[in-house]
Amino acid sequence: MKSFLFLFLLLESVLAIAQEEITELELKNHIEFLSSDELKGRYPGTSENDTVVNYLVNDFSKHQISVLVQEFEAKKRKDNTIVSTYNVLGLIEGNDSSLKSEVIILGAHYDHLGIKGDSIYHGADDNASGVAALLEIAEKVKAHEKELKRSIIFIAFGAEEQGLLGSQFFVENPIVPLNNIKLMINMDMLGSLNEKSQVYMGGAGTFLGGVELMKSLGEPNELSPVVHAGSVGGSDHVSFYKKGISVLGIHTGGNENYHQPTDTIDTLNISGEVKVANYIYQALMEVATTRKELKFIQQD
Ligand SMILES: [Zn+2]
Repeated sequence: MKSFLFLFLLLESVLAIAQEEITELELKNHIEFLSSDELKGRYPGTSENDTVVNYLVNDFSKHQISVLVQEFEAKKRKDNTIVSTYNVLGLIEGNDSSLKSEVIILGAHYDHLGIKGDSIYHGADDNASGVAALLEIAEKVKAHEKELKRSIIFIAFGAEEQGLLGSQFFVENPIVPLNNIKLMINMDMLGSLNEKSQVYMGGAGTFLGGVELMKSLGEPNELSPVVHAGSVGGSDHVSFYKKGISVLGIHTGGNENYHQPTDTIDTLNISGEVKVANYIYQALMEVATTRKELKFIQQD
């Protein structure tokens, strides 16, 4: 069941220039596409799920980011049937001869709940918003890749809603030794920044200096981070934490549309998400460019 399906390396004939700024329009375009009726709630094993996978592969490739597609089998919660689905990985190598073997992962799940009855579960906040940030942060990192000491792997996980299956598959079949993964940052629901500009996170105490770093990046990004040292639970980063890897799980809070057909793009605060994406970009660059050791700290 483990296989790495396709290795796409810079296949796109049209070479787009990696763009530095993360814009509201770019985030909006990704979310609009991913949460559209046509994609029918991005359910594992459907042709619409495969359409999303192709979209992710194309977006990474367009910005000259090496892509790897990891196929795995997912058992669906609804009826216990098994379908094939995918993780999509984008890779940007670091430049420091000794630190480039160390890896920071930025992740976001792309799947959602599909259709129930007559209702499409659009999953705009959960988690088209996180995937949009993943693609735009990757593009920005690519524009700054010369600054990287450590390497970065961007992962769009499949089948999270079926029980963190994509991230579980990855940690059981990692493309680099798990020991080399120094931090996993997960984004799940970034589209609902509130009036107080509070961005929430757990796990900041699982790496040295994490709490201080995430607090310090609030003000320059006009955000009020609510930083928990522990409180790891919730999404794909848990799969990494269980393997003894430092993690940070970031979100902008739940709301009444959570896991409802009403989780649609019109309910989102996309200008707020620009700030959140830049905040995460800066955190990512800080850990990927520092010589400081990144060390796992157990929280309870
Ligand atoms: Zn989610």
